[in-house]
Amino acid sequence: MPERNPDDSGSEPGTATAEEVDDVPTISCARCDQEWTLSYELDELMVGNQAVEQFALDHKRHTGHFPDDVQTWQATCRQCPEKIDRLSETAVTRWAETHARHTRHRVEIRHADAEETTLVDP
Ligand SMILES: [Zn+2]
Ligand SMILES: [Zn+2]
Repeated sequence: MPERNPDDSGSEPGTATAEEVDDVPTISCARCDQEWTLSYELDELMVGNQAVEQFALDHKRHTGHFPDDVQTWQATCRQCPEKIDRLSETAVTRWAETHARHTRHRVEIRHADAEETTLVDP
């Protein structure tokens, strides 16, 4: 692996912070009035890029709501009270298609990143 920082000669000897991540993401929740760093997700769960998603899912599971700045895909059935919200388009689409297939209901998918909806017909 090539050295990325040949100029970085200023690191202090003897410090044990080699594993420190500069860029630990933080996430906040207005409803809880709390802010968290995701070092637990990164260090303990080893989820890397999915740390935010993992945190959001755990938060939802334990508190019943998603934290701030988490945009979810939502599928809402037009003919019964069933609905879900998920972080991944794939998961929501799969749910909608399965629901439509089994119940013959029409399901509306609301996109996370756009003011757009998709209708899934049975
Ligand atoms: Zn919360
Ligand atoms: Zn339905």
